[in-house]
Amino acid sequence: MLSCREVTEQASDYLDQAMPFWARLMFRLHLGMCRHCQELVRQLELTTAALGSGAFAPAPTDGPDDALLAAFQTEFGPDRPDPDH
Ligand SMILES: [Zn+2]
Repeated sequence: MLSCREVTEQASDYLDQAMPFWARLMFRLHLGMCRHCQELVRQLELTTAALGSGAFAPAPTDGPDDALLAAFQTEFGPDRPDPDH
């Protein structure tokens, strides 16, 4: 059985999916019984997800999705030539 210390040390590997199957199994087994480590992994997961999505970068007030969509429509709008013709 893993100790809380081992779970803490392996948490980032677990989230990176850089663990062999049996290690993940033991890890999850510990999480199933230990709320402390459950919370630790949840927090780490949120932090990792936030970093990955750029949530800590300054965001434009109207959101990046509208700008992306507009750029996409400009680039690939209905007037684009059909390559099959
Ligand atoms: Zn624990």
